[in-house]
Amino acid sequence: MGCGCNKNKTEKNEESPAFRTEDSTTQTNQGTFFKSIAMAKSFASAIASRGVSNNKTNGPTKQLRVLSCFGNQDRGGELPPCQHLKQSTTPGKHFCGGCGCGDKPMTWLMAAGEEYSKLDYPNLQCPLNMPGFTNYTQSAPDEANAPISRKYYIENIDFNEVLKTPISLPQFKPQTPPVPPNPEETGKV
Ligand code: SF4
Repeated sequence: MGCGCNKNKTEKNEESPAFRTEDSTTQTNQGTFFKSIAMAKSFASAIASRGVSNNKTNGPTKQLRVLSCFGNQDRGGELPPCQHLKQSTTPGKHFCGGCGCGDKPMTWLMAAGEEYSKLDYPNLQCPLNMPGFTNYTQSAPDEANAPISRKYYIENIDFNEVLKTPISLPQFKPQTPPVPPNPEETGKV
């Protein structure tokens, strides 16, 4: 896949880039806690932006949001899903575990066909300020250094690749991050 972040690669080193986790950037536990409260409140304004006409954000913006949340490994790409992406108890649905809004139909990120989903809201905030979201902020200069950040990767991706990103189910079959083992089930408590 074409991507401007390849400046970290050499001809002899064509393996996929390593990605850093959110914890290795700027978040602290306390900051994350208060940010989650703010994110839950901001969801009310996201709902308001839908209006009575079911307004939706435009296609490329939603495609950036899909990349930010789900990555592109489902289509043979190198970008893993966001570490906050959670699988719903409802098969085939996903929600953001970083914003505090929980697992409900109105918080499912993607839906089938023209059905409304959370990533459609015109005004929508992301706890990690990722591309496509209303509160997006540009990556810091050090995020270009290996291991690069997911945000930096998306910022440098070929926009034609962004435009190929599916924005509805079932064409889209996302991979989710591995679920850590339950200590009670493994007997390690
Ligand atoms: S909204 Fe942001 S934090 Fe949540 S899953 Fe998507 S990219 Fe990750």
